Amino acid sequence: MDCVCIEAHTFLQIPSLSVDLALQQPRSIGKSRWAMAGQEHRCRRIVLFPLPFQGHISPMLQLAELLHARGLAVTVLHTGFNAPDATRHPELTFVPIHESSFPDEVTSLGTDIVTQLLALNAACEAPFREALASLLRGGQDVACAVVDGQCYSALRAAHRLGVPALVLRTDSAATFSSMLAYPRLRDAGFVPVKEERLDEPVPDLERLRARDLIRVDGSDTDALCGFIARVADAVRASASGVVINTFERMEASELAKIQRELSRPAFAVGPLHLLSQAPAEQSLHAPDRGCLAWLDDHPPRSVLYVSLGSVACVDRGAFVEMAWGLARSGVSFLWVVRPGLVGGVPEVPPLPDGFSEEVRNRGKIVSWAPQREVLAHAATAAFWTHCGWNSTLESVCEGVPMLVQPCFADQMVNARYVTHEWGVGLEVGEEIERGRVAMAVTKLMTGEDAAQMRGRAYHLKILASAATSLPIDSLIHYISSL
Ligand code: UDP
Repeated sequence: MDCVCIEAHTFLQIPSLSVDLALQQPRSIGKSRWAMAGQEHRCRRIVLFPLPFQGHISPMLQLAELLHARGLAVTVLHTGFNAPDATRHPELTFVPIHESSFPDEVTSLGTDIVTQLLALNAACEAPFREALASLLRGGQDVACAVVDGQCYSALRAAHRLGVPALVLRTDSAATFSSMLAYPRLRDAGFVPVKEERLDEPVPDLERLRARDLIRVDGSDTDALCGFIARVADAVRASASGVVINTFERMEASELAKIQRELSRPAFAVGPLHLLSQAPAEQSLHAPDRGCLAWLDDHPPRSVLYVSLGSVACVDRGAFVEMAWGLARSGVSFLWVVRPGLVGGVPEVPPLPDGFSEEVRNRGKIVSWAPQREVLAHAATAAFWTHCGWNSTLESVCEGVPMLVQPCFADQMVNARYVTHEWGVGLEVGEEIERGRVAMAVTKLMTGEDAAQMRGRAYHLKILASAATSLPIDSLIHYISSL
């Protein structure tokens, strides 16, 4: 793919600012008012179960805080692997499920994500069921369970124990909608996608081309189809509803489609990191806060932030091209080069020879950044991202345009929406090559379309900040009706 020129008329129509602000509710709702409104729920307990990865734990804990702030008691069941830091959330109850040690497929850096998720589901089912059953035996009044949307085995287990269960989708409504469609597309012979059909629109998912569907390169297609089918089947069979970390105005038609398809409610409770009063979320790595002082020394909107999230990795060749592309672009940049970024090797990858000297005056490399603060910093102009959903949403909420480099899974869908639905980003291109990288970076930072893209990003930010907690309140009413 080459960098794509974006035409304004194809993008989501952003309603006028005055209307948005009129609808805006305070983000931090007075606790006492809601605690009073929620008193009747205080003794009822919600049990949450996050998938033990960075991009899943944070939104689940943000949801936990929102539910607790409205008077519900919250227990977080969790694995010992990547366990959340209970001390940061004293108002929540944390209970380990005591899984036997995970097989290597779950914990190894190099394992593909489908194998990882299948193994994780298999390993968690019995210990999750036992932990939940133990809460019930202990007389806890469990109103419902909310489990991560990829944990089909936990969803099934809760349902079998007679506990109403919902799933939290930590990806977008568009992604979830494409997962629900996936088994149909497979039956119709559309997936696995043939090379010559990659640019065809996907039946019933008109905003996506075949190449934008969830994929995991190098992973067995049957395993991927099987995993998605399990997720979709479990939701149909066992979920009372779906909770999604998105907001209505960004994904209204995708949300409506999900509700139609499942005939049960979908609650767009996001952006969770904006609405929740959770402490800055726990990071699986220690952030290098020195980069904020470095940003302080830069003029407004002058720095490109580069990060491919917590899991994605690139091969050494692509990494080297990224580096020299950044050097050639001439822009100032802050780059997260974390352990595992190259080829899944657990160390921080060495930079190409001569690179540090070349960019000494305008490049800063860290192994983990306080990302939300970086995106909110005035010096940050744009974000070169893998389009994990949290990163995408965080960028949207700060009005930061994106250079998209999706690597696998839902990142393809998110990238397509960023560039072609919301019009707030450009593609870096499928082939990572220094000349193309430099061109794409320059285009995003200073090219003809840059100002328009920044304008659209700003309007999307306004919509995000106008998202209210009403869907959370509806969710709580719904839970009390189960
Ligand atoms: N993140 C961070 N510092 C970094 C890189 C990532 O704090 O240097 C956070 C980021 O803010 C986001 C999460 O890690 O909340 C990554 O989640 P995402 O869904 O974007 O990607 P994933 O890591 O799941 O692929």
